[in-house]
Amino acid sequence: MKYSSNVNKEMTVKLLDWFYANKRDLPWRHDVRPYSVWISEIMLQQTVIRSVISYYKKWMKRFPDVHILAKAGEKEVLTMWEGLGYYSRARNILKCAHQLIGLYKGTIPDEYDKLIRLPGIGDYTASAILSIAYKKPYPVMDANVNRVARRILALKSWDLFIKKEVADLLKKIISSKDPGGFNEAVMELGQRVCLVDTPLCSQCPVSGHCVSYKKNLQDRIPEKKNLQIKSRETLLPILITENRKSILVFEKKRGVLQGLWMFPGISRTGGYAERMEQFIEKNISDDFEKHGKLTVRTHHYTRFAEKLFPFIYSVRKPGKKLKEDWMWIPFRELEKYPFPSVYRRILQDVEEYMKNL
Ligand code: SF4
Repeated sequence: MKYSSNVNKEMTVKLLDWFYANKRDLPWRHDVRPYSVWISEIMLQQTVIRSVISYYKKWMKRFPDVHILAKAGEKEVLTMWEGLGYYSRARNILKCAHQLIGLYKGTIPDEYDKLIRLPGIGDYTASAILSIAYKKPYPVMDANVNRVARRILALKSWDLFIKKEVADLLKKIISSKDPGGFNEAVMELGQRVCLVDTPLCSQCPVSGHCVSYKKNLQDRIPEKKNLQIKSRETLLPILITENRKSILVFEKKRGVLQGLWMFPGISRTGGYAERMEQFIEKNISDDFEKHGKLTVRTHHYTRFAEKLFPFIYSVRKPGKKLKEDWMWIPFRELEKYPFPSVYRRILQDVEEYMKNL
């Protein structure tokens, strides 16, 4: 292995010493049962630590183990997840809990090949469970680990072979006594020291092993990928009943927001007041009143941003047969329905607006 001379067990020891002297006090670090590692690692995917802490505590209080979780309904699980985003993670957790009960009597397997077949568990989560809960030497590879390793080895390219080379190298240096600590140490180094834009090399415990640091390449590695964020704009005619007691929402049946509730929307092109009103006449009622517009909100997805333009209408006679999945829900029951966080925010705007209606 041509890059490995600088990366050795001495580096592993320095990394672990730094980690145990500096690690943050996080709730999942007090409970390394396979169940807790699984839930925390899924929550932490694509989500910053400070946002996960309160969700994790609430989750563990309500679903302290696989058996209790497996008895919950999807609606409750999605409501607990509301605001964390990437809701397929929550749906997969529930599916996985059912399989764990059916296949393994509620225990979480300690073999990679079994873990990887479970819903929502990929290489990263399987390796985290095996290393942290079962103390087996499986290195994890997330964006932080990848960046730290590429900088230490001074690898510019995003080539897949290089990814494999990084993985092989981690397998060689992972601590056999403390594989979980090693994995957490590399991740924590990426989160707190080897930062994306400004790596803090003067505070880094492994700078003596880092080729990028020696060659002053740390700002250029890894090369930035050119991700284009697309955007789109959606009109949201928000419909409430004339007595102000119910609101029209629908359940998403497909896609990344499957199982969540939202307002029906239409693409914002052309004269939009007319288009919204035609939409209401066609689908809900021709007896309605327009009130006003609410704050424009943005829903961020991985690859695009959706700007939402909400307008309030009240409907006097909601006469038309609603589309399948659309429902009038009383305001007092909305808490029981999971909404993407930006829609929950719009709901708060609606309630605020209605105080002055
Ligand atoms: Fe990252 Fe700098 Fe440490 Fe190298 S020396 S691993 S670039 S923080």
